[in-house]
Amino acid sequence: MIRAALERLESDPAREAVVGLDARGAVRWRMSARDVLAAIGGWQVWLDAQGVEPGERVALDLPRGPELLPAHLAVLASGACAVPINPALSEHERARVLERAEVRAMLDAAAERPSAGGPVRLAEAAPGAPALLIFTSGTTGEPKGVPLSRENLEANLDGLAGTWGLRPDERLLHALPAHHVHGLVLALYGSARMGMPVWLMERFDAERVLGALAEHGIAVFMGVPTMYHRMVDAPGPDAFPSMRLFVSGSAPLAEADFHGFESRFGFAPLERYGLTETLIVASNPLDGARVPGTVGRPLPRTEVRLANDGEIEVRGPGVMCGYWQDEETSAASFRDGFFRTGDLGAMHESGHLRIAGRLKELIIVGGSNVLPGEVEHALAGEPGVDELVAAGVPDADRGEIVGAFVVVHEGGDPAALRELETRLRERAERELAPYKRPRLYRFLAELPRNAMGKVDRRSLR
Ligand code: AMP
Repeated sequence: MIRAALERLESDPAREAVVGLDARGAVRWRMSARDVLAAIGGWQVWLDAQGVEPGERVALDLPRGPELLPAHLAVLASGACAVPINPALSEHERARVLERAEVRAMLDAAAERPSAGGPVRLAEAAPGAPALLIFTSGTTGEPKGVPLSRENLEANLDGLAGTWGLRPDERLLHALPAHHVHGLVLALYGSARMGMPVWLMERFDAERVLGALAEHGIAVFMGVPTMYHRMVDAPGPDAFPSMRLFVSGSAPLAEADFHGFESRFGFAPLERYGLTETLIVASNPLDGARVPGTVGRPLPRTEVRLANDGEIEVRGPGVMCGYWQDEETSAASFRDGFFRTGDLGAMHESGHLRIAGRLKELIIVGGSNVLPGEVEHALAGEPGVDELVAAGVPDADRGEIVGAFVVVHEGGDPAALRELETRLRERAERELAPYKRPRLYRFLAELPRNAMGKVDRRSLR
């Protein structure tokens, strides 16, 4: 992927490569391919000065500005491994990620790129070596590292470029977080690989995004369901003369939003399904019917099978080899070479895969994953709490929000419960990234349990 990205930049140095939009959708800065190459060269000098060797990890924690793309490409071109940092993490969460990744250097806003860089150097990397290490939520608050190799990235992006018909002359509007597979691999690396100009918006705002799509000649947009939900009812234009493709993923797209979006704008969002561990697994077709409530068919060279209990299992060139420094979890995550997704699947009458539910205890808040265990681990130690369970609660805007269900030691009168809730909210603010904090607290006399004595999270929903 990095080789193709550099070739695209070098083949036409004058072309538009990255454009920065502020939160209102106005253009703030522009970079040509030549500018991006110069910045990559500068960051490579910086990486050398830090003593970064091929295979070593470099954490990236950058704003959505002009350095974001060149810094990532420089790390990849140097044969090192990029570790994107989620800016929303609490100090404690962030420290754990940096420790687990054993990073050699931190490329953040404080790092200074030398203005005089040399020509870009493409280092050889060992086959299968991690090019990207993404930390996802871990069950006990302990992050799980997902290493993705150059081969994983290239195979998946190649499959997507064909499946979605991506072309170098198309502009992509980018309003997704840039530390997650969706915004980083698909949108940022994917467009660099194709030579597509990326229009980086400071943050997502439904009305401003609609305006930017209409005004700036954008052809491709990738979003999470919450974005589509908000765009359906947002003020702003209804027609996008240059748009070709809206892609949705990271969480289920409600059928009402699929239809609402199609009837207002005339575009059926193309829903796809994937995980950090597997990259994209299945997609609705570019040509042919996009079936709401389904995620389409497997990508080329990707095999999907359903286990006896309905769990979706995946094998293919985008699938990681195993979790970072965690042989036990890795071994438990594969069955005969197939990765066990923890999602439940069913075949729809159209022949498309349908995501029927989740075996794993994942809560997806507006496209960002939270495991109940990490919320419980952070909050259950609060004095006065006997038991605390986190569960996903349905929410029209975010898909799900985190709910905390609490049993207290001694009954608890209403004033005491209010005071406990305040302390729990304060504790969540200190310990947890904002999207992981419970929005809703409920105090119960006891928790619902199944016959095995396990807490029944489904009934808490
Ligand atoms: P992540 O690793 O953050 O990309 O999260 C992966 C999880 O997101 C999957 O295991 C699914 O549970 C969920 N997911 C991703 N795409 C979809 C989709 N189109 N429909 C339903 N769930 C999805």
